[in-house]
Amino acid sequence: MMHTRRRLIAGNWKMHMVRAEADGLVRAILDGLGGPPPARALAGTEVAVFPPFTALAAVAPLLAGRVSLGAQNVHWAQTGAFTGEVSPGMLLDLCCKYALTGHSERRHVFGESDAMVARRFAGAAGAGLVPVLCVGETLGQREAGQTQAVVAEQLTHALDALDALEAQAEFVVAYEPVWAIGTGKAAGPEDAEAVCAFIRAVLAGHSSGQAAATRILYGGSVKPDNAGAFFRQPNIDGALVGGASLGAGDFLAIVRAQ
Ligand code: PEP
Repeated sequence: MMHTRRRLIAGNWKMHMVRAEADGLVRAILDGLGGPPPARALAGTEVAVFPPFTALAAVAPLLAGRVSLGAQNVHWAQTGAFTGEVSPGMLLDLCCKYALTGHSERRHVFGESDAMVARRFAGAAGAGLVPVLCVGETLGQREAGQTQAVVAEQLTHALDALDALEAQAEFVVAYEPVWAIGTGKAAGPEDAEAVCAFIRAVLAGHSSGQAAATRILYGGSVKPDNAGAFFRQPNIDGALVGGASLGAGDFLAIVRAQ
């Protein structure tokens, strides 16, 4: 069976944007997308924004189904003594569809392990969110020839946690080489394609239907001038964009890139 995977362009705002700024950015994105939903030319593309937790409530009512909403992290439990954490139910209550799990800044700045990321990923999926599992190697790991091993380990932890919940849930994978995030040094499109094809093969080992249907994004210094080269790769179904998602002009240019 042929699967067409709808392109997903996701803007990760990281720790930027108080409510008034978030309001302005979302209105500018919606203006730029134009027309009644979904704008004709963009019918094949899903646009999503991932504001900080503090701006989700302000942004949600503006989106009107034209842009999807996501959070930058999520806990696995529904409620409990987890100071500083936010549950899947709280995010669903704010109209979130997506939640990032295992962003490299969570893994490498805050020490989240593969096991913790897997719990977040499976907990979110089990609760009805669509988790975006971020995977990727550091520069040292790449230079040591460990890219595939690292990515496979990160994926396997998450898929096993999903299996343990017996959840047949939708999810997204974002391949984000750590050395390319926020550095201005994007991976080469063929290089990124090779890793994304490997990710799809790992997913296929788990479930062939899932492998064909799951969107795999590239992330790491995606800009208007390099986005199209990634999108032309057969196993890259969109982008997770950090820095270039903070301005409507660049973000919209990436949304439109072919
Ligand atoms: C990210 O935050 O996921 C990211 C890819 O950042 P940047 O686009 O700034 O490299």
